[in-house]
Amino acid sequence: MNNITGIDISIIAPLYNEEQVFSQLIERLQSVIDKTPFACEVILVNDGSSDNTAALIEEICLKDSRFTGILLSRNHGHQLAVTAGLASVRGKQGAMIIDGDLQDPPELVNEFYKLLQQGYDVIYAVRKNRKESFLKKMAYAVYYRLQKKISSFNIPIDSGDFSMLSRRVVDNMSMMPEQSRYLRGMRAWIGFKQIGYEYDRDERHAGETKYSWSKLFELAFNGIFNFSDFPVRIISRLGLITIFFSLIYFVYNVYRKIYYNDVPHGFTATILAIIMFSGVQLLSLGLIGEYVLRIYNQVRNRPLFIVDKIIQDGRENPAGIV
Ligand code: UDP
Ligand code: MG
Repeated sequence: MNNITGIDISIIAPLYNEEQVFSQLIERLQSVIDKTPFACEVILVNDGSSDNTAALIEEICLKDSRFTGILLSRNHGHQLAVTAGLASVRGKQGAMIIDGDLQDPPELVNEFYKLLQQGYDVIYAVRKNRKESFLKKMAYAVYYRLQKKISSFNIPIDSGDFSMLSRRVVDNMSMMPEQSRYLRGMRAWIGFKQIGYEYDRDERHAGETKYSWSKLFELAFNGIFNFSDFPVRIISRLGLITIFFSLIYFVYNVYRKIYYNDVPHGFTATILAIIMFSGVQLLSLGLIGEYVLRIYNQVRNRPLFIVDKIIQDGRENPAGIV
């Protein structure tokens, strides 16, 4: 068994009502970490399950000291469960995040670790295929592409939370205090050397998906609103466009009035007032939105920049957090 003080990689798995897949998960994880040439710990986060998951976690953690259990007070949602895991990482080299339903093969820890050794800070898994319903696949495809179009920086398409993060990425992520977390976006935002790794996403081994459509939408909204100014900017753009067209309409009506005199009395003025002021209102909303956006960005309290290295006293320190 590995020495706890010499942990290299922490494997994090969030679990919400996963008693049906639990024993398979533990078997797979144990057979993986028995063989890795580096030392691993496993952090199992119970996200307020209402089934037997918590008791199962306690049991395995008492039996096998390579397993750590974090039991949350209630269901916090997948992203916060992973965040809780990240906060407890003792792996000196970093962490790997997997789903607890074995859709993400834990065996890949070896391949990811090789890439980590080659100097990559983030190795994110990219799904070659999806074994979900047609409707979900379509929704994912549209969402990822939309997000790519409107995000202010590059969030890779078709990659989820399954990834390995270097220690400094783990630390930087833990320092980002934002409440509505979208880990794959935050991971991309942090930067450093990142690389995608294509894999076949397995089917859930047992149990049902814990991501309802409403949870998926919440995640998608976090992805869009936390990482793009587009929704706010579009309001003022719409306002400007409306005003522009109302002016054209005005000119056209004046022309009709003068040359044909076929415009009913009072009609133009009413329509014009409605369109024009709708435009003005949209524009004003957009302007207020700009301020709200700036306040929002500020209160999010993200670190302003991430330092790659520090050269000090004639030495180079691979600094993660400064
Ligand atoms: N999960 C969680 N809290 C939740 C929902 C899900 O910890 O509120 C965990 C779940 O147990 C699983 C992972 O997050 O390990 C991914 O969830 P799921 O497999 O249900 O999502 P899907 O793969 O269907 O998108
Ligand atoms: Mg799943």
